[in-house]
Amino acid sequence: MSRSFDVVVIGAGPAGYIAAIRAAQHGLSVACIDEWKNHDGKNAFGGTCLNAGCIPSKVLLESSELFHRANHEFSKHGITANDISIDIAKMQKRKATIVRQLTGGVAGLLKAAKVEGLVGHGKLLAGRQVEFTPVEGEREVLDARFVVLATGSTPVELKIAPFDGDKIVDSWGALEFEEAPARLGVVGAGVIGLELGSVWSRLGSEVVILEAMDDFLFMADRDVGKEAQKQFKKQGLTVHLGASVTSAKVAGESVLVEYKDQSGDQQLEVDKLVVAVGRRPFTDGLLADDSGIDTDERGFVVVDDECRTGVKNVFAIGDCVRGPMLAHKGSEEGVLAADLIAGEVAELNYGVIPSVIYTAPEIAWVGKTEEEVKASGRAYKTGSFPFAASGRAKAMEQTDGMVKIISAEDDDEILGVHIVGPMAGELISEAVLAMEFQASTEDLQRTIHAHPSLTEAIHEASLAVDNKALNYPNR
Ligand code: FAD
Ligand code: NAD
Repeated sequence: MSRSFDVVVIGAGPAGYIAAIRAAQHGLSVACIDEWKNHDGKNAFGGTCLNAGCIPSKVLLESSELFHRANHEFSKHGITANDISIDIAKMQKRKATIVRQLTGGVAGLLKAAKVEGLVGHGKLLAGRQVEFTPVEGEREVLDARFVVLATGSTPVELKIAPFDGDKIVDSWGALEFEEAPARLGVVGAGVIGLELGSVWSRLGSEVVILEAMDDFLFMADRDVGKEAQKQFKKQGLTVHLGASVTSAKVAGESVLVEYKDQSGDQQLEVDKLVVAVGRRPFTDGLLADDSGIDTDERGFVVVDDECRTGVKNVFAIGDCVRGPMLAHKGSEEGVLAADLIAGEVAELNYGVIPSVIYTAPEIAWVGKTEEEVKASGRAYKTGSFPFAASGRAKAMEQTDGMVKIISAEDDDEILGVHIVGPMAGELISEAVLAMEFQASTEDLQRTIHAHPSLTEAIHEASLAVDNKALNYPNR
């Protein structure tokens, strides 16, 4: 007899495991299937985020930033540190330990919530049945009242620069280097290109990033993009804009990259090449021919605003559906789906999902860019405040960057907040909360901010919107 569950979740990344836990909190019987296998051959829950994405990249960003600061900043504080070196094997071991702790933590959380964690492949059949092929043991068909698809995404591979797992690698490969390549090429100056380019540049690689678009960080507010570009240049990251890669081939110990830019055909020789040109939804082997689930032309599972697919009681969440490919977006969709399954009223405010790039300085934003507001035709006002005028930033020796706020002229609504600077990824939470509560700019202006803190830059930027900044000259 087949086992039956109230909810079967396929995928245990930040979208799937959160959906499973929340569904279990509602008293539902839940199974969560995942097939992730690490390079050591071991299976682990947590998906891309914990095993090969958010967490390992942030661990390496932290280690490499400390190394960089010890080399370049300590002396400004009067600290002499001679013979600073980095043991990359030890750095990688620390990363592996943190990943193991956190993925083991997910397994523990599922168990504590009484979710049946199933290791293997899940496939959606017709009639809300799920075929489960375990890593070990017999294939079985599970009956589900509800199914949640949360199978995530995978790196886009370029035909002209195929991965070989050694010299031409994806982001996972770039997280595993055993030493800093002397010459590192990166295709794509997106989030991954900048984060992982920064890691290896700080550890000694000469990094060249090739970006097809003409604008740097085209998805960010232009002021932020320009400021970030200036800072990365200062750090020695070379970014070629308007550069279309035409081929990349391994030639002996090197990779030969050919690309075109406005000056014509160019060549670049590197020791390793990271291709980071985006990710595609991963639904390979997920859907039986008669499952009834629609995917769009880019492979995303088609869902409505409530993450419902076209098949009754089948939801899809996270990177395999439309919207930004971010862990926190997937997790909140997991909560949304589970709450709706439990019969609760629930919704997700897609307009206030924060984006963070964990470089130094960090880059973070929420809401609309100035260009988007302008295009919408709504009258607006802006205010900004540079970290150079922040006492706390000075104490931290991190004065690059600024906070910029865009507000509506008519009702003072905060439309977008954009930060490039120290701890931007933490600071942005204040703006997210303000926008979630539909605070006005005046609300921010009247909120007491601790002194001296980086948050004062948000306060001053909100004052600057109405030319009332107190610690910086107004326009
Ligand atoms: P995933 O995390 O991809 O999980 C999907 C899971 O489903 C996987 O374990 C997969 O093995 C499993 N699966 C797939 N198909 C099946 C099947 N048929 N049967 C069983 N199991 C299956 N986002 C952020 O918000 N912040 C960051 O700092 C950040 N950094 C990143 C850094 C890097 C280098 C990368 C690559 C990504 C980063 N991301 C970051 C993006 C983030 O990792 C994803 O948005 C997030 O993991 C998506 O979650 P998900 O649960 O939808 O999918
Ligand atoms: P991305 O979409 O952020 O950037 C890809 C870049 O590659 C773009 O700038 C694009 O113009 C460029 N590009 C595309 N094709 C190209 C080509 N042929 N030649 C040169 N450039 C080309 O994608 P990513 O950096 O691969 O990251 C994938 C996803 O992972 C993103 O959606 C991101 O949201 C997520 N992620 C998030 C974080 C974070 O939140 N801090 C970190 C890493 C990844």
